[in-house]
Amino acid sequence: MTATVIDGKAFAATVRGKVAEHVTRLKEVHGITPGLAVVLVGEDPASQVYVRSKGKMTAEVGMNSYEHKLDVDTSEEALLALIDQLNNDPAVHGILVQLPLPDHLDSDLVINSIDPAKDVDGFHISNVGLLGTGQKSMVPCTPLGCLMMLRDHLGSLSGLNAVVVGRSNIVGKPMAQLLLGDSCTVTIAHSRTKDLPAVVRQADIVVAAVGRPQMIPGDWIKPGATVIDVGINRIEKPEGGTRLVGDVDYDSCAAVAGAITPVPGGVGPMTIACLLANTVTACSRANGLKEPEGLTA
Ligand code: NAP
Repeated sequence: MTATVIDGKAFAATVRGKVAEHVTRLKEVHGITPGLAVVLVGEDPASQVYVRSKGKMTAEVGMNSYEHKLDVDTSEEALLALIDQLNNDPAVHGILVQLPLPDHLDSDLVINSIDPAKDVDGFHISNVGLLGTGQKSMVPCTPLGCLMMLRDHLGSLSGLNAVVVGRSNIVGKPMAQLLLGDSCTVTIAHSRTKDLPAVVRQADIVVAAVGRPQMIPGDWIKPGATVIDVGINRIEKPEGGTRLVGDVDYDSCAAVAGAITPVPGGVGPMTIACLLANTVTACSRANGLKEPEGLTA
């Protein structure tokens, strides 16, 4: 079998198109422009790239983008004061604090100071609790993107065996909650899991979020399974230079799976698209308006 390639780049463009349509409606019918504030502390090069592309795509879908770049030695007090100001600004519907923060700042404290209704990353403890109890919440962007691709490709996920490899708070755990919400039978595997190959072989859906290049080979994959590769790892090429690979060994998995996301061009582009989707959802909720369909869990 040769797997169908799930084109995350194209799907993300479709999601951004839906967001843009909804933004136009909010502006024309209700006179509201959704606004996303992104806060970056310090000059981490990767974070700077992410923040730049978030700002560009926010503007492209017609939303207001507010960037707050703070010095690396910004005090916790100053950062919390800025978040308080954004929480109280009616033009700001979504707030994202780019992680990781410098070591002297307490990430949990900072994230939990964001108004949960504006927490478009879905990391606030209230949103984690709401998701865990099946209530309406802001859903973390990367797992939301994975769920959208799975629903689009498979239709109903009900009753399918899903194995999530990785138990981080930003990917693995919320991914498992979302799959459970769609009535999958969910296993969360991690570094202490016994006989991981046998666990993964049970899966109709494999979500790999490990951070280890090409760790999952094709002979762990049940024939016909759907493989979602969240990993983004840079490796050396034999001929020099580097390239990006995922957490699954793409060629051997694609030979067995029914469908697979490539790296790059799979999960990655969906993350920013879902950030924009969350912002438009937050804006609609804040104004007591109907949420856009198909853009939330
Ligand atoms: P993380 O916080 O480092 O978590 C990695 C998880 O993998 C942990 O739960 C760890 O288990 C587990 N693990 C490590 N080695 C393992 C092994 N040998 N066998 C089984 N499980 C193992 O990573 P993350 O933040 O979730 O990110 C995972 C990957 O996704 C990274 O490559 C990251 O770059 C990528 N990512 C991509 C996007 C995107 O937009 N596409 C977004 C976020 C992250 P323990 O808990 O037992 O240590």
